[in-house]
Amino acid sequence: MTHTAPLRRTTQAVEVGSITVGGNAPVVVQSMTNTDTADIPGTIQQVAQLARAGSELVRVTVNTSEAAAAVPHIRDGLARVGVAVPLVGDFHFNGHRLLQEHPACGEALAKYRINPGNVGAGSRRDNQFGYLIEMACLNKKPVRIGVNWGSLDQALMARMMDDNAVRAEPWSAEAVMREALVISALESAAQAIEWGLPSDHIILSCKVSDVQDLIAVYRELASRTTHPLHLGLTEAGMGSKGIVASTAALAVLLQEGIGDTIRISLTPEPGGDRSKEVIVAQEILQTMGLRSFTPLVTACPGCGRTTSSYFQELAEQIQTFLRESMPQWREKYPGVESLNVAVMGCVVNGPGESKLADIGISLPGSGERPVAPVYIDGERAETLKGDHIAEEFQALVVNYIEKRYGVPA
Ligand code: SF4
Repeated sequence: MTHTAPLRRTTQAVEVGSITVGGNAPVVVQSMTNTDTADIPGTIQQVAQLARAGSELVRVTVNTSEAAAAVPHIRDGLARVGVAVPLVGDFHFNGHRLLQEHPACGEALAKYRINPGNVGAGSRRDNQFGYLIEMACLNKKPVRIGVNWGSLDQALMARMMDDNAVRAEPWSAEAVMREALVISALESAAQAIEWGLPSDHIILSCKVSDVQDLIAVYRELASRTTHPLHLGLTEAGMGSKGIVASTAALAVLLQEGIGDTIRISLTPEPGGDRSKEVIVAQEILQTMGLRSFTPLVTACPGCGRTTSSYFQELAEQIQTFLRESMPQWREKYPGVESLNVAVMGCVVNGPGESKLADIGISLPGSGERPVAPVYIDGERAETLKGDHIAEEFQALVVNYIEKRYGVPA
């Protein structure tokens, strides 16, 4: 079955270290640490974990002098363990001072994220924002101007509310808020360009926590700029709520060609795995046909026709095996990330779905003969039975990968 990936809107290409954001580059996955950046070993460990999970940019907060001093050591420590992921520094309130006092921090980072709502007010804002931009120009670094509803420039909001009050037909407060987010990003970008930052060094974002607001704001922003856009639903939340809300918002925008880099802002469960946000971002892009990262397993949900959880365990086992093998497979088997595997619970949809996959297995449902046909490239190739179906199917998958994607020596 073929499908067409959504067409992307044309944006300027911005180089962030070794990664291109915008232009014709694929949508970039990024994430953010939640360690204290001053904790050098802890931050190195988490950045490495996020990068190995597939995060192509990793943002760290730079909120204190200790954090700023730690950044070059983090970058060097990552290089020592073979992790070259570009680091992005998240600056608020005191970023201008930190960059001034710690020039090595500014050099070690591949990009600065600046929130125009959190760099003071009035002329103080201009000084602080201006200094951050000056440092970006000096160090030849790109900047993400990241507006956030929770920290919208209040002076701008007040000005726009006043303007709205004298309109013949005033907008709703929500519409003014959405426009203020867009204007804050666009005016800040124009100001940065005026101060010397090249236009192709700017990425924009306007994050809100409501799905419909996010879609409306980004549609508007996309229609008014060619800067690449960073997408993310801020404060998406925990567990399935965070995943569903982020997917709902980002899928609509990505389908319209909007978005050059994404982050899924999941709140991890206590002690949970931070790299979950990277996997969710990859799965959104892969299931939409925009990128391929890891072979995906198609599995049926199960029903009364199969009373055992065997096929769910097999599906989980195969998916974990494929994901964990990817770091070694990426270079060994070019293209393996597009592989489709099916693990189905019974004869109703099992053979059909398995035939559509590159390799699929249809396990026996209740009352069926205890045999599991395996389909390879749409043809029935093997029939497994006995106590070692899982191991035998995994071996068939590896064999298929070797034959199809292995590079001849
Ligand atoms: S393939 Fe079989 S077990 Fe799976 S959901 Fe369909 S009918 Fe149920």
